[in-house]
This record gives sequence, structure tokens and C-alpha cells, in this order.
Amino acid sequence: MTKITVAKGDGIGPEIMDATLEILKAAGAQIEVDEIEIGEKVYLSGNTSGIAPESWDTIRQNKVILKAPITTPQGGGYKSLNVTTRKTLGLYANVRPVMSLYPFVETKHPLMDLVIVRENEEDLYAGIEHQQTDEVVQCLKLISRPGCEKIIRYAFEYAKQQNRKKVTCFTKDNIMKQTDGLFHKVFDEIAKEYPEIKNEHWIVDIGAAKVAESPELFDVIVMPNLYGDIISDIAAEIAGSVGLCGSANIGEECAMFEAIHGTAPDIGGKNIANPSGLLQGAIMMLNHIGQSTVAETIQNAWLATLEQGVHTADIYKEGTSSLKVGTREFAQAVITNL
Ligand code: NAD
Repeated sequence: MTKITVAKGDGIGPEIMDATLEILKAAGAQIEVDEIEIGEKVYLSGNTSGIAPESWDTIRQNKVILKAPITTPQGGGYKSLNVTTRKTLGLYANVRPVMSLYPFVETKHPLMDLVIVRENEEDLYAGIEHQQTDEVVQCLKLISRPGCEKIIRYAFEYAKQQNRKKVTCFTKDNIMKQTDGLFHKVFDEIAKEYPEIKNEHWIVDIGAAKVAESPELFDVIVMPNLYGDIISDIAAEIAGSVGLCGSANIGEECAMFEAIHGTAPDIGGKNIANPSGLLQGAIMMLNHIGQSTVAETIQNAWLATLEQGVHTADIYKEGTSSLKVGTREFAQAVITNL
């Protein structure tokens, strides 16, 4: 039995987390849940960090956290807890697999099967942002050699383990010659250590256009934080929906698993949301804690459900889908297919 920390989050968070945990339980996952409260309720109680100090202790003790999306209140004074968590726990690698589920889920890109490996602690997300004068604000882009080495080596090791053939690097080093230039330089150095894996570099703007038009050209793509955040949402959406993809945030000590999307406040509490993204995060978590057999059983039941055309509203299409269901009903259908 592995103890994991669970945070149900905001918006659609509680409903997709309940659906996910129900599937995990029905599949026989050997997990014990330690629930913490983070996000909106904590912010509104006057704690501007969005997390109580004792919740950090729980996270550090258990080392594995399954987290639903959380809201960061707009405006000054509030820090993004997502960014803080990744930095505080040293979760340097954000791994986001995106694959086509065609013909079960409609997409223009049936051969798409890529993994985005996003640097998770540095770049413009390092939190170095300040007011210079009344009219000028500044955000600094931080890229370090150790940070580049860790994430780029992680991408090549991931490719090797998963039997993937190519690692692509995206940067904007024609403009940001020092920062993105360093990321590209370290990529070229580390690529030499993996002669069996192809490597290439694209300038990020044309790279993003190519991902949108011909995603089947890519296998593993490694990139700095901001580009990875944006391009993984584009990739998920063209594969079918942002509601379909999960992510693993990996560090030396701890790991956090989540959906790639946000709290979807427009559909929160309505039993409409697709729980698949968080379920995919949970499947990655099960693999991480050595419960690969349960992970595979759940993945197969999930695929069977999509194949039967039992779809939530975000992926429902006349002709391809057979039944439009809500969050709870989707989870029940997956459980029936276990
Ligand atoms: P969002 O991802 O929440 O929603 C974008 C669109 O996608 C909406 O139309 C939404 O309905 C739809 N969508 C998202 N997930 C879905 C699902 N599972 N099923 C069906 N449809 C889904 O993005 P946003 O509106 O820009 O952000 C809302 C809030 O979420 C913000 O407060 C933001 O800070 C937060 N956020 C949190 C995380 C996180 O906790 N990891 C990540 C991104 C955004």
C-alpha cells in the first residue's frame, strides 16, 4: 500500500478527482489517500500562498501527490501555487504525452504520438518579476547550465527507456542568444551522448506551427518552461481536447501528477468535465510507484470506453460517438470495462 497526497482543487477539480479515485479503487490500486486542502479556499482564508504549512509536511512525507487543478486569484499579492510547488519540491521535469485516439476520438492528426518534456523550474516562470518605475515592469528569464543539463538528459533518458527514436529541441536562440542559446548548446552537447537517438533543433515559432500542422513529425520534444506550457495545450487540443492529457512533474525526491488543463470554471460543478486528463496523470503515478499492472488495466478500460463511443461533451461528435455522458457516468463506464 502506497500513501499518496491528494488535493481536489477548485472548479471541476473535485468532480474529476472523485471520478479518478473511484476508478483507481475499482481497479484495485494499492493506495492510501491523505487529503489536503489547497487553492481557492486557502487563499480566501487569508493565506496568500494557497497552502497551509502542515500540508507541505504531508506532501514531503508521502513524496507523491495527485493534484486536481487549482485557481490562482488574479492580481497582485497572490503567488501561483502551481509554480511554487514545482519550485519548492524541485520538480524539474514536466512530462506531457499527447497521442491521437483516432478513430475513437475525432482528430485531423491520426498518427500523432508525441511527448513534450518541459523544463519546469526556470525561464520566465522563475518568479523574478518587478516594477521598475510607475510605467515599466520587468520579468527576467532565467536559464542555467545545470537546469538545462538536467532536463535535456531527462528527455534523452526518457526517449531511451520508452524506445522513442528522436528528440527535438525548441528554442528561440536566434533572438535570445544567451538564454535560449545556452539551452540549444547544452542540447547539442548531450545529444552526442546518445548516438542511437536522432536529434534536431527547431526555432520555436515554426516548430509550434509544425506541431499544429504535422504533429506526426515529432517524437519527444524538449523545451524551456513557457514554450512547453503553451505548446502542450495546443498539442492536446489538436489531438482531441485539453481534457484528455495528463502530466507528470518529476523531481529527485518527490513527484506530482495532474491533468494539463485548468479548473474550467465555465463548467465547474455541472458533471460535464472530462476526467480523462487527471486519470492519465493517475496512470502515470501508478507506473511511478511500481503498480504498472493496475495502470495498464485502467488504460485498457479507458481506451475501451472511448472505443465504445462513450464520450464526454468536449469530445462528443455525431457519427463518431455513440453516447454523450457526464463525468460520473464516464467513470462508471470505465469501471464496467475494467
Ligand atoms: P482551462 O484549462 O481551465 O479551460 C480552458 C477551456 O477548456 C474551457 O472552455 C474549459 O471548459 C475547457 N476544459 C478544460 N478542462 C476540461 C475538461 N477536463 N473537460 C472538458 N472541458 C475542459 O483554462 P483557463 O480557463 O485558462 O483557466 C482557468 C483557471 O485554471 C485559472 O484560474 C488558471 O489559473 C487555472 N489553471 C490551473 C492549472 C493547474 O492547476 N495545473 C493549469 C492551468 C490553469
